[in-house]
Order: sequence, then C-alpha cells, then structure tokens
Amino acid sequence: MHRTHTAGELRAQDEAKTVTIAGWAHAIRPHGAVTFIDVRDRYGVTQATVGEEFAALTKDLKRESVIKVTGTVKRKPTPNPRLATGEIEIVATGFEVLGPADPLPIEIGADNTDEIRLKYRYLDLRRPDMQHRLALRDRLAASFRENLRKMGFLEIETPLLVKSTPEGARDYVVPSRVHTGRFYALPQSPQIYKQLLMVAGCDRYFQLARCLRDEDLRADRQPEFTQVDIEMSFVEQEDVLAVGDILVHNVIQEVTGKNIGPLPRMTYQEAMDKYGCDKPDLRFGLPLIDVTYIVNSSEFKVFSEAPMTKAIVVPKSLVRKEIDSYTELVKSSKAKGLAFTNVKGGALDGGIAKFLTPEIQANLIQATGAGEGETILFIADKPKIVNDALAKLRNTLGRDLKLYDPEGLSFLWVVDFPLFEWDEDANDWTPAHHMFTMPKPECLQYLKSDPGKVIAQCYDLVLNGVEMASGSIRVHRPDIQRDIMHAMNIPEDEAKQKFGFLLEAFTYGAPPHGGFAIGFDRFCAMLEAESDIREYIAFPKNKSAECPMDGSPGFVSGKQLDELGISLKKL
Ligand code: ASP
Repeated sequence: MHRTHTAGELRAQDEAKTVTIAGWAHAIRPHGAVTFIDVRDRYGVTQATVGEEFAALTKDLKRESVIKVTGTVKRKPTPNPRLATGEIEIVATGFEVLGPADPLPIEIGADNTDEIRLKYRYLDLRRPDMQHRLALRDRLAASFRENLRKMGFLEIETPLLVKSTPEGARDYVVPSRVHTGRFYALPQSPQIYKQLLMVAGCDRYFQLARCLRDEDLRADRQPEFTQVDIEMSFVEQEDVLAVGDILVHNVIQEVTGKNIGPLPRMTYQEAMDKYGCDKPDLRFGLPLIDVTYIVNSSEFKVFSEAPMTKAIVVPKSLVRKEIDSYTELVKSSKAKGLAFTNVKGGALDGGIAKFLTPEIQANLIQATGAGEGETILFIADKPKIVNDALAKLRNTLGRDLKLYDPEGLSFLWVVDFPLFEWDEDANDWTPAHHMFTMPKPECLQYLKSDPGKVIAQCYDLVLNGVEMASGSIRVHRPDIQRDIMHAMNIPEDEAKQKFGFLLEAFTYGAPPHGGFAIGFDRFCAMLEAESDIREYIAFPKNKSAECPMDGSPGFVSGKQLDELGISLKKL
C-alpha cells in the first residue's frame, strides 16, 4: 500500500498510530543523526523524522523527490502552529524513494516569469496556490452542473469538429485527410448546435463547453477557453435572465458563502450615457455627466465646437501631476486632451474656469453636483471618443482613489443592446452579439430600412466592469434570419452554404428559444480578483498562442502533409 493517510490529515489524536504517507520532499533538513523531511501532497504537509538507518537513501535525496514514509505518529515537543498537522511528526520505520528528482530547473514559486511557469507548468502547478485555484475551478464547475441539473437542464456534448460557427473571431481549421481539400472548423462556441438541440426538442441544454477562437491574445483571452453554455426553449428574455439570476446567486453562495442579492439591470443606452461603456463597474459611482447643452453656447471653442462634452467629478482636488497623468491616459483613447477646473468658494477656479461665464460656471456646478474642493474633468469630442476616454478614466480613478472594495462582487445585467454595430473597416453592419439574435418585435420594421435603429433581445452579464456572460433570444424564423443576413450583406448563396442546415432546421418546427454563455475561466478568476485567466487554466497558452511546455504549435511531417494534400507555401 502506498499510503494510509494523506499528508494533510494527521492530528494529535492519531498519536501512536502506525501510518504511511507518500508525497514530495518539500524540505529536507539534516540534523545530526536524523533528517527532517517535510512531505507534501495536495492535502498538506507533514514532517517526517528519518533516522540514520536510512542515511543511504536520504544522503543524496533531492528536494521534490517522491518518497514514501512509514512510521509512528508522535506528538512534537514544539508544535508548528503554521501547519494543520503541526502538532505531530512521523518517526520513520520505513523509507522509500518512489520517484527520485533531479535538481529542479526552476525554484518553484510565484515569482518565476510567465514563460518559465508555462514551460514547467507541472512544477508550477505543485504550488499550493495553484492547487487551490484548480480546486476552486472544480467546485465552481460542480456547482454550476448541480444547479443547472436541478433546474432541469441536460448536459449534452456538441462536436469539436464542426462547420464554422461565427462568433466574430477567426476559426481554427482542421484539414480533412479523407476529404482532401476540405476542412473542419473548431467551434468558436456551440451556438448553432445548441440551437439545433432546441429544434430537436431537448428543451433545456447546458455544457461546460470548450470554445476555440484564433484571435490576438490579451491577458483575459486564451485561444481555447471554457463556457458554461446554456440554451432554453419556450422562453422570453425575462425567463432567461431569471435562470441566470438564480444560477449565479446559488453558485456564488455555495462556493464563496457570499450573498450577492438580486442582480440589478440597466439598459445599454443608460450604461453608455452614464458610464460611457456597456460594462460599467458599479462598485463605485463617478457617473459621467453630459454637459453639452450647457457649454455649447460658450465662447470656449474646445467645448462649443465639439459634438459632445461630458464631465466627471473627482471627489478630491487633483494636483497638476495627477491631471497630467490622466491627460496621457485619455490621449491613449484618442481624446485630444482633458480639461479641468476646481470648485472653490462656490465658483469654478483654475484650469478652464477663465473661459466660462459665471452663468455657465453656475450651471456646471449645479448639473455636476460638484462640491467644494472637488475637481471636475471634461472631455469634448465625438461621442465615441468622449465615452471611451471617460470610461477608461473613470475605472482608473475608481482604482487610484480606492473607491471600492477589491474583493467586492458587483453584478449587473446590461440589456437592450443594438442588434448591429457599424464596422468602419468592413464598411458594413456587423452583429453586435451574433447573427442569431432576435430583434425586439417593435424594431423588426427597421431591419431593412435602418439597421442601426434595431434593438436586440440581447443581454450581457457584467461583473466589476468585466463582461462575464452574454446571450440573447434567438431568431427561430428563417424569414427574419434571412433579413438579418441581408442587412449584413451576406449573399443568399453564401448564407445557404454556411448556415443552410440551420435555416433548413428552422423550417421543420422550431420553438422560440434563447440562452447565454458564461465565460467560465474568467468567472473563476474574477471571484478571486485575479485579472489573468491563465491562473485558473491547468495548461494555458502563452501570449503568442504557444505552449512553451509541449512546443505546440509544432511542425508536421512531409508524409502527414501529403496525406492531407497540403503543400506549404514558402513564407
Ligand atoms: N454563443 C454566445 C457566445 O459565445 C453566447 C450565447 O449567445 O449564448 O458569446
């Protein structure tokens, strides 16, 4: 038998028992005739005292070797309060090296570079922090599964080798050997398949689904990631949000013990007006205030000539250096500059105050609600620039001024997104969510004439300013789906070739349906206020989509390429 107990299990009441534990030699301390070895496994650390009789084995033993210790549990004369097992030690009567370790290429610890951590991921994962994260991920996955099952959802797997499912990214493609010249796509999401499951009468589906998207990577993106993917039949938006509310509430409560209360809602328009973005962080206030109507009659051309001027009130008086650094920040969002002034003695003082009449000053103080000693910051520009820059500034101010509890969880449903957004590059409308999203019934009339006016039955779940989930009520009528593709200028034959099977399925009796998908890796990370989702993925890729450990993506042999009928261009 390799072990009777784990290395985290033994306590004072186990005194005098004969036990066997096995694990990694976490620390080795020779001490005269005996050697103290801390044995570590997933469950904890236990000290073993190994006598001279095993000197031949312990003498050259390297840290992180896998060992097995049999012995008697003794109370330690001086307990170690830092260890759960700190009251006892095992005095060895048997000792074996099960898996010797060479000197390690890295010191196992959090401060290794990302590249090193990924190259030796199996060593990095030995750290208790990482073990904790994997265990949290497991508990969250189990909790999602249990709660969804309780609500009648069936977990159904969808294929990995698929026809392209568009989610706005590039597909990873897999060449077919049997059908030379043809390719599968790896799913960007199970979107089309979950909708087909609704046509198939499955009624309530979920899956912890792997999604693969070939896009440029950022800290919160990975080429493959996991979604808690959900779809339901015979539902309206309200029904879907209700399931989302219960699910998120229960999972958070079960896993963290926190009660997040009812999830608030806000329309897309309100979020844009008040916070300049569709994923506001509501852990703090600092709303944006549209003051265009106050300043557009001013002599101050920066304001009067701009299509929009918005202000934000900082609950303190900023010094020059701070204003300079915030100016740099907003410039990175294409704003030309950041105007400021302070409230002093009930009037505006400093910065742009000199360009504004007393009447405009009074109106600004009233509209912004700025108090004595506070700074008002302004950006005047095109609405997109004003909103982008101020939204970024607002998040930075919230963080710099410590306006929120970093451990707090502030969820929000953002609803009523536009169906399309204008894609400057493509010079065309593209779906704001994806093309299977149902417009609001009252907007169907604008689908052909004025696509920008169409509001969708579409919603995002936001947590602390980060998009956590998105979903929609789907189009289940082929005629509307065709109109949407038409608005996007997708020619009929291309639509048929790409999605013909879905459009056909809808002609054989499709229930109204909708759903959403939660970004599971991000959900895990956000619960612990961690911004890098790789911390919660056992084997993630680096920022260039490579795995430094296995060396993927790798080359394949000429024979494999021949079989696939592929010849590589010289690059
Ligand atoms: N498939 C969508 C996505 O990946 C989610 C959904 O609409 O259910 O964003």
